[in-house]
This record gives sequence, structure tokens and C-alpha cells, in this order.
Amino acid sequence: MLRRGLRIVKDPKQADYLVVNTCGFIQSAKEESIEEILKLADLKNSNGRKHRLLITGCLAQRYPGELLRQIPEIDGLLGIDQYDKIDSLLDTDSAYITRPPSSYKESHTLQVLRDRPYAYLKIADGCDNRCSYCAIPMIRGKYRSRSLAAISADVDRLLEHEVLELNLIAQDVARYGFDIGKHPLALLEMLEQKRGEFWVRPFYLHPAHLTEEILDFFAASKKFCQYLEMPLQHVNSRLLKEMNRRYSRARIERLLNSIRVKLPATVLRTTFIVGFPGETRKEFDELCSFVEEERICRGGVFGYSREEGTAAYQFNGRLAQRTVAARQEELTRLINENAEEFNASLVGRELKMIVERFDAPSKQAIGRLFCDAPEIDFTIHVPARAVVGKGFRTVYVTGTSGEGFVGEFVGAGVEGRKHGK
Ligand code: SF4
Repeated sequence: MLRRGLRIVKDPKQADYLVVNTCGFIQSAKEESIEEILKLADLKNSNGRKHRLLITGCLAQRYPGELLRQIPEIDGLLGIDQYDKIDSLLDTDSAYITRPPSSYKESHTLQVLRDRPYAYLKIADGCDNRCSYCAIPMIRGKYRSRSLAAISADVDRLLEHEVLELNLIAQDVARYGFDIGKHPLALLEMLEQKRGEFWVRPFYLHPAHLTEEILDFFAASKKFCQYLEMPLQHVNSRLLKEMNRRYSRARIERLLNSIRVKLPATVLRTTFIVGFPGETRKEFDELCSFVEEERICRGGVFGYSREEGTAAYQFNGRLAQRTVAARQEELTRLINENAEEFNASLVGRELKMIVERFDAPSKQAIGRLFCDAPEIDFTIHVPARAVVGKGFRTVYVTGTSGEGFVGEFVGAGVEGRKHGK
């Protein structure tokens, strides 16, 4: 699209092409995607400008017929791995949906969004794990790693554009390379050898695939930012088996113990599913006690979503929606309490902050600490007399707030008074 001379505008009213890149793996994600599509369909009907509405991503891949039938305002659809076809949709109504390929398809040059100092670095796509509740393998196909050379080229480009944080993403990051004869450590070593100061924040480390070797690597790494995301989904061994997660509570405990010993300063983020078919109150209580005992302070709680085509779709013992919602709320509250306690423990410390932007009206630099990922965790707000550019700064954490933290810069004028660590 950029090659055709198009440029990105933020206000949809100004756009000739409205592109919605959708998610579609659980009910709430589908609803969110459809709401956005309908909002833009309304705009298309009411605005004098001639817009074309193009839908890409998982929802398009999963429900192409339904989308075209039910939302006639849609002009084009692209499934996954079809992004190179977007050019054809600019003038012609069409849909490109095929089965996901068996090897990774590099179809376009990475475009760097310059308004933020972080990027999501995709290292693979698809998944072979077949968790019983999950529609993703059906939508995105088999696991396929990107080549090290392609990832390395993206990293160079991102670093050239002053990106300071690489968030590693895939459906299963710790499994990188097994399909192309590579090892996850080769990827981590490649990142480690890149010059300059930047953070590596790994996501989606499946507990069955996160190894001691990877933890050892993180312990010695200068780029790893002391944060790892490992989706646990539950801790009750019976439910883990029903979910086809391929690990038990004992494995989780061993891993957490290794993380505590090898990476004592590291913050763990995780996700849980509550209300899985057959989840008893006792099993849910086991999960709550785990969250309290392990002081899980960063995490997301999903209510089970019954997805057609998955093994769990047929499972008996479905819970009432209100029970699922109540459990979701209860577990979220426990995580929030732990987060408050953890955040308070950082008050009085000098830490590295990544400044994401300067908010002129409030004269504050806004960014994040090591313990918080972009978009999903907390932020830190630091008053500043003059505009502060994106980059790393040292801050003294002076307090906590609903958004996370408040602090002062260390190293200039009053801001520079020396604080103990
Ligand atoms: S590992 Fe993640 S993406 Fe893969 S099947 Fe399980 S939940 Fe879905």
C-alpha cells in the first residue's frame, strides 16, 4: 500500500481504505472485531467520502462466508499469510482465504511505526499444541519458524529506527526453530549479539517448552529485561490434562522454583482460563491459593470461551456464564492485590525507565519499567520541566498510582539528587 503511494491516517473519516486487522479466537475477541467492522460500515454508509472496507486476519480466515453474507459493506477479505494480496483488493472486490502454508511466508518488508520505542518481533506463526479449548491451530495452521536471517534483518531495521524494546511473539516462543533445524538459543544469541542498548521481553513461553537452558541464558543476558510471560492457564493437574496442556502442577512448581533461583529479580506474567468445563469450586480455589502464594502480580484472566471445532466444545460440565464471570472477577482481584503489593515494593528504588512519550498538557514523561509490557501492564509517569524524548532514563520511583508508578528523573538539577537503591 505504501508502494502505491498511500499513507497512514489516524482518522477513519479521512481514509480511502479502512483496514480492520481482526482477532477471532474467542468470543470476546470476535465481538470486539465485529463491533469495529460495524462501526466502520456505518461510517461508510453515512460519510460522503467513498471508502473501501477491507478485513484481514483471524476472523476473516475463520468466518469468511459469514462476514461477506452478513456485512455487505465489506469490499475485500484477506486471510492470514495473504497480506501480499492487499494490493489486489484496493480496486477490486475479492477475498483471499487459503489454508495456512506449511513454512513461514515472508511477504513484506517490515514497516517501523515511529511513534513508539517498542516493537513486536514475530519469530514464528501457527501452533501444533492442540490445547483442547483453543481454535488457534485451526485458524493459523502448523508451527512455522521464521528464518534467523529474516528475523535478524528485522531487528537491524528496528534498531536503526531507534526501537529500544523487542517483544518476542509467536504462539509458542520457546519452541522456536524446531521445524527448521534451529534452537531457541540460536535466536536469543543472535539478539544478544546485536549492538546497542535495548530490552528483549519474551512472551508466550509455553511451560512444557521453557527449558533450564533458556532460563540460564536469560540469567546471563544483558538484553533480557527481567520479565517473562509464561501462560499457565491453570494449575490443577486434572484440568491441565483436560486442557491438553502437556504439563502438571509439579512441572509448574519446578519451573517457578528455577525462575526464583536463576532469575530472582524477574517478574512473571501469566494468563489463566477460569470456568473450563468441569472446573469445580475446589479446583478454582486451588488456583486462587496458588496466585496468592506465588504472589502472581502481572496477568490476564480469561473466562472459558466455547469454540466450535475444538475438542473441549463437546465436553460436559459447562458452567453457568455468571459463575465464569464471578470467578474471572475474583481471580483478577487477587492478581490486582498482588500487583499493588509488588508495585509498592519498588517505591524508593532507582530503575531504568523506557520513555514512550511526553504528554505536553500534564508536562509528564510517560513510559514503563522492566516489570511492565506495553499496552497490557502498568506505566510510570514522571514530571518534567522540558520535553523528554523517547529513550532510556534512570528514575527514582517515588510512589504508586492507579496507572502504576510515579517517579523523578535522576541526573539533572533537583531531579538529580542522589537516591539510595
Ligand atoms: S499453545 Fe497457545 S496457541 Fe497453541 S493450542 Fe495451546 S493455547 Fe492455542
